[in-house]
Amino acid sequence: MNQLSDQVNRLQTSATLAMAAKARELKEAGKDIIGLSLGEPDFTTPDFIKKAAIEAIEADYHSYTPVDGYKELKESIKNKFKRDNQLDYQLSQIVVSTGAKQSLYNVANAVLNPGDEVILPCPYWVSYADIVKLTGATPVEVPTSIESDFKMSPAQLEAAITPQTKMMWYSSPCNPSGSIYSETELKELAEILKKHPQIIVVSDEIYEHINFTENKFSMAQIDFMKDRTVTVNGVSKAFSMTGWRIGYIGAPEYIAKACTKLQGQVTSGANCIAQQAVIAALDAPVDKISYIIDKFEERRKLTLDLVNQIPGFTSNVPEGAFYVFPNVSHYFGKTIKGKTVNDASDFSMLLLEEANVATVTGKAFGNPDCIRISYAASEADIKNAFKRIQEVLS
Ligand code: PMP
Ligand code: GLU
Repeated sequence: MNQLSDQVNRLQTSATLAMAAKARELKEAGKDIIGLSLGEPDFTTPDFIKKAAIEAIEADYHSYTPVDGYKELKESIKNKFKRDNQLDYQLSQIVVSTGAKQSLYNVANAVLNPGDEVILPCPYWVSYADIVKLTGATPVEVPTSIESDFKMSPAQLEAAITPQTKMMWYSSPCNPSGSIYSETELKELAEILKKHPQIIVVSDEIYEHINFTENKFSMAQIDFMKDRTVTVNGVSKAFSMTGWRIGYIGAPEYIAKACTKLQGQVTSGANCIAQQAVIAALDAPVDKISYIIDKFEERRKLTLDLVNQIPGFTSNVPEGAFYVFPNVSHYFGKTIKGKTVNDASDFSMLLLEEANVATVTGKAFGNPDCIRISYAASEADIKNAFKRIQEVLS
C-alpha cells in the first residue's frame, strides 16, 4: 500500500545527495571510490569560527532564537551586504534559515501559486526544479550551451516570458557551470524584466566568494530591480560550513515577512550556536578565507587541464564555484566495458562502476549532455580520478 502524498511521489531524490550516498555506501563496502560528486569543500571550518561556536555553548546559548534569526546576526548580514555587494538591506528585509536550501524553499512557497511559471536558465542547480514543482508551479527551462558560456541571453529570456511567468531564478557563480553573469549581462536581462514588473528574481549568490574574476555584481544593485529581487546567500561554501546549516536572504520586506511566517510554522528558526558562529564568519575580513579561494583556483586549473586531455570532453572555462561541467555526448551510442552509454546518466554510472569515480549526471541540472565534476577534493584525488577515467575511456 502506498499512502504517500502525490506531492512526494512526484518529487525526485536530490541527484547530488543520492550520488554522494551511493559513493559512501560503496566506500563502506570496501571499494576505493573517489568522490567528485558532492559540492562540499574538503577544508574544515576555520578555527576562528569554531571558537565562536564553542564560546556560544559556554555562554549558555541554548534557547529558541527569533524566528528570522538573532538581531546581532542580522546586523552582521546587513553589514556584509553593504561591504561586499553595495546593497542596503534593512533588518526587516533579512531572514536567516537552515541553509540556503531552506531560504530558497521559503521564497518559492512564499511567492508561487499553482499555474505560475518560473524561468530557469539551464543548467540550474539540482534542487531548483523540484522546489518549484512542490509549490505546484511549473519550471520553464531555457537551454544554453558552451558557446554562450551556459548563460541565458536577453532574447532567450524574452521568448520564455508568458503572462504566467512569476519568477526568474539563477545562481551566479553558477552551480554547475561556474559561469558568472557580468554587470552588463545582468543589466541587459533587467531591461527585459523592466517590461514585466510581475516577475520576481531569485539571485542565488552562495558561491559569491569563490569567484576567480573581477565580475562581482548583484541583480539587486540595479535600482529598479531591488524591490523585486531576492538575494540568497549562505556560509556553506566559502566558509566550509555545509553541516552548520545557515543560509539567509535579503528581500523585499513583504517577502521576508512571509518567509518568517512560513519558517515559524516549520522550523521555528535556525540553530542558535550555528547562528553565533556565523556572526564571526561574516564579521571577519574576507581575506581570512582567501587561502580557501586560492586553493580552489589552483584546482580549477588542474581540473580543467585534465578535462581537456580527455578525448571527446568539451568544456567552458568556469569562472567561479568549484565544478566543471563537460559535455560528454561524444560517448553517447558507444559501448564501453560492455556497457552501452545512451546519455549522461549512463556515462556517470559507467565512471562510478568502472573507474570508481563519482560524478553527477547533467540531467539533474537540466542538461543531459554533460556531467558535473566537483573539484572540492584534494589534488591527489583529482589527478587519480582523471587517470582512472582516461583508462576506462581509452
Ligand atoms: N544554492 C546552490 C547553487 C548550491 O550549490 C547549494 C549547495 N548546497 C545551495 C544553494 C544550498 O546550500 P546550503 O543549503 O548548504 O546553504
Ligand atoms: N550544493 C551541493 C551540490 O550541489 C550540495 C548537495 C546538495 O545540497 O544537494 O552538490
